[in-house]
Amino acid sequence: MTELLYLRDAYATQFTAAVTAHRDGDAGRAIALDRTLFYPTGGGQPHDTGRLAGLAVGEVRKDGSDVWHSVGEGTLPAVGDTVAGEIDWDRRHRLMRTHTALHVLCGVIWNEWHVPVTGGNMEPLSARMDFEFDPVPEGFAARIEELVNAELAADRAIEVHFLPRDTAVHDADLIRTKVNMIPDSVSEIRVVDIVGLDKQADGGTHVRSTAEVGRLKVLKLENKGKGNKRVRVEIVDA
Ligand SMILES: [Zn+2]
Repeated sequence: MTELLYLRDAYATQFTAAVTAHRDGDAGRAIALDRTLFYPTGGGQPHDTGRLAGLAVGEVRKDGSDVWHSVGEGTLPAVGDTVAGEIDWDRRHRLMRTHTALHVLCGVIWNEWHVPVTGGNMEPLSARMDFEFDPVPEGFAARIEELVNAELAADRAIEVHFLPRDTAVHDADLIRTKVNMIPDSVSEIRVVDIVGLDKQADGGTHVRSTAEVGRLKVLKLENKGKGNKRVRVEIVDA
């Protein structure tokens, strides 16, 4: 089982860990660790890149409770070795800004229209999110840019809390984001709270304050069918 260090500190970039397993075969070369700062692809957020035991990390995936780091050329460390890792901070921070902007977008759309998000995906500084609009309101793109950028400029704090499952499932804000869909086996739920705006059960990485995001631009609205409208955005410096 890999301890996920980024859940408690999204700003740490360097760590050491013990190698618990490795693979070297047709499917590629990968290393599993007892703990990691590398975010594995999931929840709409792509994986981190960086270096581990002197090797380039190209992809990171979760397999059961283990995080596997795909690595490039070079000698693989032995099981039991202690290795040093470092994530590519530029890529991670862009993903943290983008991920946080999407929470602000969800919060703003919920507050203004009471419409839930149905899906989404992000890359560093660009993203898409789908909402249950039918049809999209008049002047929608300009209105969400205005509302989101006002919230970003308001410099709202973003807090991470770990709540017992029984507490989280009774929180009205979390019920809206389907906290009850989290498996019963999860006893502690991580909550990302943009104070006063948006609260979600979430395993991703976020910045500390909305001002750190920059500004959001709406690039395009797409009709993905009845009750499903896609918003494409990019994040730019403030
Ligand atoms: Zn999130």
